[in-house]
Amino acid sequence: MRRQRKAKIIATLGPASSSPEMLEKIVRTGVDVFRLNFSHGEHSEHQARFETIREVEAKLGRPIGVLMDLQGPKIRVGTFAVEQIMLEAGDKFRFDMDKTPGDQNRVCLPHPEIFKALEVGANLLLDDGKVRMRVEKCDAESADCVVIAGGPLSNRKGVNVPDVMLPMSPLTDKDRVDLAYGLEMGVDFVALSFVQRPEDVAEARKIINGRAAIISKLEKPKAIEHLDEIIALSDAIMVARGDLGVECPPEDVPILQKRIIAACRVAGKPVIVATQMLDSMVTNPAPTRAEASDVATAIYDGADAVMLSAESAVGKYPLETVGIMDRIMVRVERDELYARLREASRPDPEHTAPDAISAAARQTAGTIGSKAIVTYTTSGSTAYRAARERPEVAILGLTPKIQTARRMALCWGLHPVFTRDATNFAEMVGIACDVAKREEFAAPGDSIVITAGVPFGTPGATNILRIAWLSGKN
Ligand code: PGA
Ligand code: MN
Repeated sequence: MRRQRKAKIIATLGPASSSPEMLEKIVRTGVDVFRLNFSHGEHSEHQARFETIREVEAKLGRPIGVLMDLQGPKIRVGTFAVEQIMLEAGDKFRFDMDKTPGDQNRVCLPHPEIFKALEVGANLLLDDGKVRMRVEKCDAESADCVVIAGGPLSNRKGVNVPDVMLPMSPLTDKDRVDLAYGLEMGVDFVALSFVQRPEDVAEARKIINGRAAIISKLEKPKAIEHLDEIIALSDAIMVARGDLGVECPPEDVPILQKRIIAACRVAGKPVIVATQMLDSMVTNPAPTRAEASDVATAIYDGADAVMLSAESAVGKYPLETVGIMDRIMVRVERDELYARLREASRPDPEHTAPDAISAAARQTAGTIGSKAIVTYTTSGSTAYRAARERPEVAILGLTPKIQTARRMALCWGLHPVFTRDATNFAEMVGIACDVAKREEFAAPGDSIVITAGVPFGTPGATNILRIAWLSGKN
């Protein structure tokens, strides 16, 4: 089963999409990676979804990535004595540590670390930025604020504090429990929410210890100040536009999206554009023109993957949403402007053997019109370098490790194939030709470009480029 596009689709699972029948249909229609959102749901629900994904994967014979998304330090107010209060600009409002239900004048904010970090003048954004306040006075246990933009406020609404670096680990106690559960289950990717500093990623990396790839979600303006370091320490990046768009002015979001994608392209790390891509399809069977344009823009920008949240988790039209997303992407990738942008934004190879071979493979395939590049990869790192080159043809990533195959599912241009390793040159050519034909990338008479490392089976030793022609008999 091959896709007609290079960029990938991630879909969040939820009640709308978790039956085996629906899950299989949306994979056939275009989903490459599934997201389990640990902000919602019980462990047993995630476990059941995980097992369904693996069943569909086995049935379709196509590696599927599973991404667990940790809730992270999402800050929330406590509860109110009334159903909701109504705040107006100019009102005074106090946050404190007193668990007594709140009223028109105050509410509990049960996060002591926030009071320590708050400064006079800092902005507090409540309920996705619908209510905005400014700190006028604060100490270690309370903050007195003035309401800048009024609105309703009710129990457990979220709080964003864009201006201050919070002295908090991105892994809460809940995240640590969830993480242990997800790793035991066998997820392929862990997404870290509200990453602020490079150290946050390093801390998670120590715990995860290679058992899953790490995706840093960029949703705090403070994180952008350390963009390159965070990218360097992460395996992939998510432009988490939901919270980013609350913490930053909306006019900054498109620019940050382009800047983050460009930085990831140079580093050769996969980058995901997430949130509200086809949001109106939660309730409507067709997207708005603006949403279609948003998906297209992410693809023109060079994103590796685009993500669906509520659209696929709780929407009325999960299948239609995946279908239209796929069609928009296929359409953009056939556009001549897309090809020009891809050529113009190619970063120079770094001075390493895998980069030299990857660049040569792309050039060779282009020069002789090969139908695919076939890369033997153990850890996947050579395949990611090949994808960084953004060749015109697909890259078949052949690996004897199923975890590597599943991780490749997220990356632009990589068609993952779980297969045995070659032990000699004849096998290297034979397996590559067989797979290219079986997966419908090449036919007898076509050429493919193969990269591998000799001695065979040694990770990180890519040093071979071989052109092969498919003969009539294979
Ligand atoms: P979330 O992250 O859906 O977990 O909040 C994505 C975002 O903020 O865009
Ligand atoms: Mn978020």
